[in-house]
Amino acid sequence: MRSAMKSSRICIVASLFACFFPATTTVAQTENVRQMVLTIDDLPYHASGHPDTIAQANRVTDRLLSTLTEYQAPATAFVNESNLLINGEADARTRLLRKWAESGVILGNHTYSHADLNQSSVELFQREIIDGESITLEVMLSRPRYQRYFRYPYSHTGDTAEKKARIARFLKERGYRIAPYTIDSQDYVFNRIYLDARQSENVELAEQIRLAYVEFVVAATVFAETISSRVFGDEIPQILIVHANQINADALAEVLARLVQRGYLFVDLTKAMQHPAYKTEDRLVTSYGPSWLWRWSYSMELDISFRGDPEPPNWILDLYEESVSVDD
Ligand SMILES: [Zn+2]
Repeated sequence: MRSAMKSSRICIVASLFACFFPATTTVAQTENVRQMVLTIDDLPYHASGHPDTIAQANRVTDRLLSTLTEYQAPATAFVNESNLLINGEADARTRLLRKWAESGVILGNHTYSHADLNQSSVELFQREIIDGESITLEVMLSRPRYQRYFRYPYSHTGDTAEKKARIARFLKERGYRIAPYTIDSQDYVFNRIYLDARQSENVELAEQIRLAYVEFVVAATVFAETISSRVFGDEIPQILIVHANQINADALAEVLARLVQRGYLFVDLTKAMQHPAYKTEDRLVTSYGPSWLWRWSYSMELDISFRGDPEPPNWILDLYEESVSVDD
């Protein structure tokens, strides 16, 4: 009630015209709307060094899908088919993929075993691509006409010009488009320590990590908006990368709510990539995995500073280092 009163008062103060002709304002807002694509990696479930149980994988899947439905957010999700074999639960884990497909999510290829192109020969990586598509294509049979997408693990697109060109050509011949990203949620950092905190029943810490994650994704989004304007003269449809993990099961809805507040509309990858920015060639040859905004800036020979690219808070990074070092 209070918000209705408040908004009607703002309406009178702001513009009587807009209040009487709401359709006019709706059109203007639609033209100015920001576009965001959700991409979700490492299906069916990413356990971040914690036990990978089918029960948890099921819960995470259901919550992610209900968030996507709630926000009417189309998504493209990338599968590592070797992970379907974990614990000998191939049928149950393939059923998870079917849930994604039935919810309208496009499933793409992320190689069979999350292969690192830096560490692979061209031939081995081609085998990973072929082996990584068999079950996914079968699950997607009910959607015979859709664009196939491929996402490079670690965003390693080729550490030599020859590898990069040969794999890109191979993907094109098999009907794949390469899925770029412009915003890295770095959720694997947050997720690991979030699971640590939950495991030790430190509810307060888990909640602090979850909230820090939401803030980080928003900060990374704001940075991508600024940089894309510098590279292309205007904002472009952004592509966010997250993983099928626990922290997104518990925080993605809040992330999406914040993005809606920033004026974002969720669109699918194919629509977003119709924007001219996505026709820009990626000519960067590197062993690192930077965002496509950086690749395009380099390829266009622009002298743009990426200073200010946000990192997770130090206390998050410290907890992560500590957690990883226990494994070593
Ligand atoms: Zn991955």
